[in-house]
Amino acid sequence: MKTLEINSIKELLKEQKEIIIVSHKNPDGDAIGSSLALQQYLKKLNQNPVIIVPNDYPEFLKWLPNTNSILKYEDDKEKANILISNAAIIFTLDFNAFHRTGDMMQILDSSSALKIMIDHHQQPENFATYMYSDTSMSSTCEMVYNFIAKMDNTNLIDKDIATCIYVGIMTDTGSFKYRSTTSITHKIVSSLIEKGANNTAIHNYVYNTNTYNRIQLLGKALNNLVFIEKYNTAYITLSQKELREHNYKKGDTEGIVNYALSLNRCKMAAIFIEDEKQGIIKISLRSKGDFSVNELSREHFDGGGHTNAAGGKSDLNLTETIAKFISILPKYEKTLEYEI
Ligand code: 5GP
Ligand code: MN
Repeated sequence: MKTLEINSIKELLKEQKEIIIVSHKNPDGDAIGSSLALQQYLKKLNQNPVIIVPNDYPEFLKWLPNTNSILKYEDDKEKANILISNAAIIFTLDFNAFHRTGDMMQILDSSSALKIMIDHHQQPENFATYMYSDTSMSSTCEMVYNFIAKMDNTNLIDKDIATCIYVGIMTDTGSFKYRSTTSITHKIVSSLIEKGANNTAIHNYVYNTNTYNRIQLLGKALNNLVFIEKYNTAYITLSQKELREHNYKKGDTEGIVNYALSLNRCKMAAIFIEDEKQGIIKISLRSKGDFSVNELSREHFDGGGHTNAAGGKSDLNLTETIAKFISILPKYEKTLEYEI
């Protein structure tokens, strides 16, 4: 984001305005963390922004400060539509295209509010007046930190803001180990700890609050794991019946795909989760090295994301989706070759 744009935003925020912060469907740690951090920062500038997310988010994020102020579009469309229609400024966080907001897409598209995008996904749509898009960033939370820094306001980062930013960086970097994690990411994390983020407690809240059902579901998923040696590709399936048997709750399948990727020689991993309500198979894809699951997902599964982590969907049934996935692998044989 250029100095000129930052100056314009500073000018805009001098007076109180109706501000909305929105993020993507099935919000994750980065979406919720960045939205809450930005909301609390803007409050310190005497603004009173409302966060609207399309639908519910995982239990393991509900301890975060001020989560009870988050409006879920699916719960109160009427109120959310009024707020969006009246908004002067809409911050769009952690997504690159309006369709990622599900049912909110239409109202966002038709809103005349000034839009400010903060996002790290590839191939962003051009809907924002001010666009802070950087695909090299570990997370939107890291970018919210940078945004606050560019506004010359790191002094306003308190324990709550630091905690929210920490959560998004931690969850989007697989606890600071993915390729997008840089020395600068670590410097930011260091300053977040100085400002009061309790790294051990945060880790425990997010990763050590499993339910018995969730661990059992993980066991089922691992039992369903298939490794296709020829293409260094692993995949996991979970049917609606299996989810029901383990009393599935939102967030329960988060991270399972990484077990598949952890297999020796595995270059790409996928998880296929049956969603009867939406009539789709939700797909999560992960890869190691230069193999781009963003490209694969865009081409075959109506999705996208990053080089090493992407998502998508399929309208076929579970068996047909797997068959389609397997049928496209030969096309990628060369790029799926394993190098150390
Ligand atoms: P996950 O597999 O954890 O749901 O998502 C991995 C990454 O891909 C995230 O950055 C997420 O925002 C993105 N992503 C997930 N599902 C979709 C999708 O259906 N379409 C697009 N464009 N991106 C997705
Ligand atoms: Mn993110």
